Amino acid sequence: MHRSPDTLFALPGEPPHEQVSMFCDAGSGLRTIIAIHSTARGPAFGGCRVWSYASDADALRDALRLSHGMSLKNALAGLPFGGGKAVILKPVETPERASLFQAFGKRVDMLGGRYITAEDVGSTTDDMRAVQRNTAFVSGIPRDGSFGGDPSPKTAWGVFLAIDEAVRHVMKRPLDGVTVAVQGLGSVGMALCRHLHAAGARLKVSDLDQDRVRYAQSTFAAMPVDSDQILATPCDVLAPCALGGVLNASSVPRVAAAIVVGASNNQLLTPADGDALHARGVLYLPDFLVNAGGIISAAREYLGTGDEAEVMREIGMIRQRVAELLERSGGQAPFRVAQQWAEALVG
Ligand code: NAD
Repeated sequence: MHRSPDTLFALPGEPPHEQVSMFCDAGSGLRTIIAIHSTARGPAFGGCRVWSYASDADALRDALRLSHGMSLKNALAGLPFGGGKAVILKPVETPERASLFQAFGKRVDMLGGRYITAEDVGSTTDDMRAVQRNTAFVSGIPRDGSFGGDPSPKTAWGVFLAIDEAVRHVMKRPLDGVTVAVQGLGSVGMALCRHLHAAGARLKVSDLDQDRVRYAQSTFAAMPVDSDQILATPCDVLAPCALGGVLNASSVPRVAAAIVVGASNNQLLTPADGDALHARGVLYLPDFLVNAGGIISAAREYLGTGDEAEVMREIGMIRQRVAELLERSGGQAPFRVAQQWAEALVG
């Protein structure tokens, strides 16, 4: 029997999922989609994004793409977790945040541990404390004041190591004097700038928030670049640290960097955009490999094993994985090789 590919069970181009749950709560204004791509390695672990989507379908697509990415990320990082992600559709009226996240926590709890949540774009450590009132399946909350908590600094450190390794591989030199363009000066982007500046890199930066740009200018001697120019600005390394889908048919031909490595999830709008970068001789390292520092920290915190030094050692493995990927890739596009590598580990 012929079936249209556009069914609720298979959005075109999106990977099949084990479970997708949608919850509403009129009292708090909560509308959330929790996507569980795979629990083959263990409970699905991934953050909770709060965003204003143009349509419910866009929210669903984002949840599906992000949760699939979490499967790849968790597997490649060797974590005993599957992939999942939640999106909360930002209410039109400004919500009472604590009740919104408490309501979300209740829904996470209803999944009985199949999904574990944490921070993502639009949610904070305080929000996770509210989630924790109604479920134990949450991470990203400092438990003893020093270990765990906000994953962003850990993400930034992993991305920094990946950039350093890529520069050594492609440019045969250390970061000192290399020009890095950072798109997005949020929790991860700003911390990344700090590491890059300390390593002697020259920075070009953009953010929609001009206060952040001014801070980077005064603190890291960064050169400001218009937001619509940052992807095309001449530089050695481009680090997308804002939103997904920025590497697309319109931006890829304009990329002037030799290397693209950043924190944003799902930077490629489509795999063809990664192929186009590769064909242009640009080294693109996939986000699910390089931005795993945050989930490594959140996972350790959740498991309650190890300590800060152990987390940093695990994040340090990102450098080795980048080196191994570059060796495995030969002439192939590294993001394709990484995807196959990760898919085999997802189970
Ligand atoms: P954030 O919300 O703190 O920062 C994002 C920044 O990007 C904001 O300052 C925003 O103003 C800016 N921005 C948005 N659109 C922009 C544009 N068009 N041009 C320039 N700047 C723009 O988010 P974050 O936590 O720093 O995360 C950044 C990216 O990294 C996201 O895609 C996120 O999914 C991904 N990521 C984050 C973590 C983490 O630990 N926080 C882990 C893995 C992946």
